[in-house]
Amino acid sequence: AAAAAAASLPPAMAPPSSAPPTASSTGRMQLIDEHQKFNSSEFSPHLTQWGLDDVGFGYDLCAVLGSQSTGKSTLLNKLFGTNFDVMSESARQQTTKGIWMCKGLKMNVLVMDVEGTDGRERGEDQDFERKSALFSMASAEVLIVNLWEHQVGLYQGANMGLLKTVFEVNLGLFQASKAKTVGAKDKTLLLFVIRDHIGVTPLENLSATIMADLSKIWFSLSKPEGLENSNITDFFDFMFTTLPHKILQPVEFDRAVDLLRNRFVDPKDPNFVFRTEYHKRIPADGLPHYLESIWEQVMTNKDLDLPTQQELLAQFRCDEIANAAFTLFATDIKGFRKLIEGGSVLESLGPDMALHRAAAMSKFDRDASRYHPEVYKRKRIDLLEKLNASLSPFFLGQLKNLHRSLLASFKQNVLDRMKNDANYDFGSLVGGEKKAAMAKFELAARAVLLDETDWSIHDEVAELEAEIQSISDTMRVEETRKMVVAIERTFKKNISEPVEVALTSPKDTLWDEVLTAFSGLLEQAEGNYLKKAKSFNCTDKENEVALMDLRRKSWLSFRAKVDEQTADSVMAGKLRGWFEDRFRYDDAGVPRVWKPEDDIDSAYRKARDETLTLIPLFSKIQPSNPSLLPDIPSTSDTSDPDADAFDLPSTLTILTPTRTSSIASRFRKEADALYVEAKRSTVSSIAQ
Ligand code: GDP
Ligand code: MG
Repeated sequence: AAAAAAASLPPAMAPPSSAPPTASSTGRMQLIDEHQKFNSSEFSPHLTQWGLDDVGFGYDLCAVLGSQSTGKSTLLNKLFGTNFDVMSESARQQTTKGIWMCKGLKMNVLVMDVEGTDGRERGEDQDFERKSALFSMASAEVLIVNLWEHQVGLYQGANMGLLKTVFEVNLGLFQASKAKTVGAKDKTLLLFVIRDHIGVTPLENLSATIMADLSKIWFSLSKPEGLENSNITDFFDFMFTTLPHKILQPVEFDRAVDLLRNRFVDPKDPNFVFRTEYHKRIPADGLPHYLESIWEQVMTNKDLDLPTQQELLAQFRCDEIANAAFTLFATDIKGFRKLIEGGSVLESLGPDMALHRAAAMSKFDRDASRYHPEVYKRKRIDLLEKLNASLSPFFLGQLKNLHRSLLASFKQNVLDRMKNDANYDFGSLVGGEKKAAMAKFELAARAVLLDETDWSIHDEVAELEAEIQSISDTMRVEETRKMVVAIERTFKKNISEPVEVALTSPKDTLWDEVLTAFSGLLEQAEGNYLKKAKSFNCTDKENEVALMDLRRKSWLSFRAKVDEQTADSVMAGKLRGWFEDRFRYDDAGVPRVWKPEDDIDSAYRKARDETLTLIPLFSKIQPSNPSLLPDIPSTSDTSDPDADAFDLPSTLTILTPTRTSSIASRFRKEADALYVEAKRSTVSSIAQ
C-alpha cells in the first residue's frame, strides 16, 4: 500500500534527499531566516520563477500553525506537492528555523511553513512563535491548525496556548479598523486538522470540544475598547477535519489528504477554503514589499494596523508602477523632441502622443488598480499630470512650428497671387488666404490637443490671427504706396505735354489752360486711386490722407515741370525764339532780308517790347479765373507731421524779381546782338 501511495506522488512530492536542498533547486525559499531576517532579495525572483508576479489577486496564501513534530510539513507536502523539510524519522534532527514559503504544485497557492523551537514545551522564549503567528495572520487567508487527536480537550495544552496567542494577536491587528466593520469582511478561516484520528470519537464531538475551549479562551481575553462584546466568530470562520494515522493507515491517510486537497483547489467543493472574503487583497506583485514591511512592524513590536499597511503598500507600489510606466513612456516619446525642436510639424503627433499616454495609463491601471482605491485614484491623477507635463512641450512646440510655417506660407501665397493676377482685389485675396490659414491652423492645432489636459489653443489662435492681421496691414500699406506711386508717375507723364505746349506758345490765358489741364488730370488720378483703394479695404481716414498726399505730389510734379520749362537757359531760348519770330519774319511768316531803306530800328523795338511783355506772364501762376487754382491745404494747416512741408501760395511765384530782371537783361543783350547782326547784313549787301 505504501508503494502504491508513493507511486501516485507527483515528482515534486518525492521525499527530500538527506542533504538540505538549496532554495533554487527545489523552488521553496526561506522567507525569514533563523536570525529572523526577511529575505527581501530572493522573494521577488521566486515569485517570477513561480509565475506569480503577474497574477494580481489570482493567488491564495495559506499557513500552518501547530506544535513541533505534529506532521505539519509532512501534511503540507502531501497536500500541495511542496518540499518543505520533514524531520527525519530515523535521525530526529532539528530542521532549519524560520518561515519557509513554497508554491503549490499546479496551483496558484503560496504555502508558508513555520519551523522553530517549541518554546512553550521547552520553557523557552515564545517570541518567535508569537511573531510568526502574527505574520501568518496578517497575510494568510487560511490558517491550518494542526493537532493530534489526543491534544483535543487539553485546555492547558500547548495548542490552546498558541491559539490564545493567535486571538490576542488578531485583536491587536484589527483593533482600529475592525471595530467599525465587525463581522463584515476580513475574516480568516481556521481549519483544524485533527491528526491520528482513531475514529472512536466522531468529528462532531471533537469540534464541539474545540469550539468550547476556544470560547473559553475568547471569554478570558481582555479585549480592546470597542470590541468588549465581540464574538470569536466576528473574526474567524471555523472548519474541522480529521486525518487517519499516516503510518498505521497509509492508504486511508492518502485518501483523506486527497479529499482535503479538493477543498483547496475546487471552488465548487462545498468546503472550498479560499473564499474571496478571506483574501487579504494584496496583489501578488505587492507581496514582497507588503510582507517585508509587515515583518518589519512585527519585529519592531509596533502596532500592526493592516489598513494603514495596505495604504502604505499602495503608495509604494503605485509609485513604482507609475515610475515603470513613465520610464517606458519617456523612451517612447524621446524621438519627438529633436524633430519638434528642429522646427518640424509632425503629421501624426496628436494620435501618437495620445497612444503613448494611453499605453502608459493602461499599464498603470492594470497593475495599480488592484491597490487601495483612494491611493490609486490619487496616484493616477499624479501620473496623468506627469505624462501631460512631458507632452506639453511637444504640443506647444508643434503649435509654434505650425504658426511659423503658416505665417510664411500665408505671406508667400499672397505675394504669388498678386504676381499671377494683375487685377487682384487685395482685400478679398488677403481675406481668403487669412481664412484658409486660420482654418488650417485650427484643424492642425486641434489634432494635437489631448483630452484630460488643461491645454488650450485659444491663445495661439488669437496670436496667429493678430500676426496675420499685422502682416496684411503692412502689405496693404506697402501695396497702397506702390499704387499711389504708379498713379503719381502716370500723372507726371500726363501733365508734361500740356505744360510744355502751353509754355511754348504762351497766350494770355496760359495759366487758365494749364490749370484746367491740371485739374482734369488730378481728377482722373483721384478716380483711379479711389477705385483701387476700395480693393485694399482702405479706411476713410487712410483715403483722406492718401488723396491729400496725391494732390500735393501732383501739384509738386506739375510745378517741377513748370520749373523745368522756366529754367534760365530754357527761358532765354524761348525769349530768343519769340523775338526772332517777330523780328526776322514778316507778318506772313516769310524770313526778312533787310534792305537799307527798311526801318530796322522800329521793327527791332516792336519785337523786343512785345517779347518783354511775356516775361511777367511767366513770373507767377496767375489764372484769369482764380477759382481754377486747386484747393490744396498747406501742411501747416493739418496735423500730419509726416507730410513734407507744403504751401500752395508760396509755390505760385515762378520767377523772383531778381531772376525776372536778369532774364530780361540777358534777353536784351541777345536781342541787341541780333539787331547789330541785322544792321551789318544791310551794310555788307551795300558793299557788294
Ligand atoms: P512538523 O515539525 O510539524 O513539520 O512535523 P514533520 O512533518 O517534520 O514530521 C515530524 C514527524 O512526524 C516525522 O517523523 C513524520 O514522519 C511524522 N509524521 C508525519 N505525519 C504523521 C502522522 O500523520 N502521524 C504520525 N504519527 N506521525 C507523522
Ligand atoms: Mg516542519
